[in-house]
Amino acid sequence: MSIRFIALVTTLLALAPSTSWSQAGGDSEARWTIVHAGTILPVPGQPPLSEQSLVIEGDRIDRIVAGYATADSLGLDGGADITVIDLREYFVLPGLMDMHVHLTGGGAPAGMPDEADDVYRMTTGIINARLTLRAGYTTVRNPGSAGWSIFALRDGVEAGDLEGPRMFVAGHTIRSSASDGSGSCYSVESCRQAVRRQIAMGADVIKVYATCSGSQPCAHKDAPGVFLEDELAAAIATARTRELKVAAHAHTTAGINMALEAGVDSIEHGSWLDERSYELLVETGAYLVPTLAVKDFVRAGLAERSPEDRARLEASINEHPRRVFEAFQAGAKIASGSDAGVSRHGKNARELEWYVDIGLTEMEAIVTATVNAADLLGEPELGTLEAGKLADVIAVSESPLENISALTDVDFVMKGGTVYVGLHP
Ligand SMILES: [Zn+2]
Repeated sequence: MSIRFIALVTTLLALAPSTSWSQAGGDSEARWTIVHAGTILPVPGQPPLSEQSLVIEGDRIDRIVAGYATADSLGLDGGADITVIDLREYFVLPGLMDMHVHLTGGGAPAGMPDEADDVYRMTTGIINARLTLRAGYTTVRNPGSAGWSIFALRDGVEAGDLEGPRMFVAGHTIRSSASDGSGSCYSVESCRQAVRRQIAMGADVIKVYATCSGSQPCAHKDAPGVFLEDELAAAIATARTRELKVAAHAHTTAGINMALEAGVDSIEHGSWLDERSYELLVETGAYLVPTLAVKDFVRAGLAERSPEDRARLEASINEHPRRVFEAFQAGAKIASGSDAGVSRHGKNARELEWYVDIGLTEMEAIVTATVNAADLLGEPELGTLEAGKLADVIAVSESPLENISALTDVDFVMKGGTVYVGLHP
């Protein structure tokens, strides 16, 4: 039996090679990891437990047992490769999930030809994927990107060649437009085609742009949705042919409600939700992905805006958080999404601070980034630490149930049984 004992030494993190543990353990013999957790929150929404052992075989959780188990007490096979990780001074919880990030950025510097964009997006994406994983986010959804880089990034991470979170990507956003971009469409026929094109590229989810972007004047509170009903219905029906979910970018009341009535699975942003939106969210079971972290960025840029834009954006800064909380109180489900790319990569947990600021409890905020996110993705193997699930595990030094900001400083990150942050042998 070969047993390694690993202590968590946070001050030495910067010195620890990032990938030294990626290759740890053989593929042929059984690989076990025993995590001694001072406090563990196996299922957000249920109370935490103290002094437990999280037992992981390969990339999956085998069981959680009370006390600090040893290989012998667990009766593990004598020939197994066993690592014991000491998190007795830490709060352990499932890896966090951000349902709205744009990892691949803007493209090539000005003056370069269009075909250069994708390789520049790829390098940006590699950096941001690493930042995101190291911030404790083991899964993300990327609703909308350009080119092919997001697919290459997802697949490179999945293959273990790149460091990053599990990624569920939308490809190009479906927009109502007569331009010939890959996501553009303006009829039932062309909207079907635009969605089929994303499916062919390898999309995991479809994103539709149901209203103007938040910074545009046409995203004012009373503006209509930008699709015609039959176009939106065609896009959603086409996504359903491959059992893909549909995320709708929507700011205006009419656009939000039209998208919910058409049957989307999530509303992204939802700036001008109204009472009817709350009802529709509850009735349809669609998620709200609030992206409140963007407010920090919008507020910081207000001075450069025209007086009209400023008034509109200030109104949204004041109203949006309140409406998100009203929706929550009405029974709408929230899945955490930070819009990193607009907000800052690697600062995804800022979104959870926002939820607590508007009135959610710390536990409710954590649920949005774990259990609810997994449900929105339709991925039953993610979101909790239970037998059979993928071993996506993080740890922080302070209880996030007392201070949600603890999640902005993560000391340990494991994804699929591989440790990326926090081990120093
Ligand atoms: Zn976005």
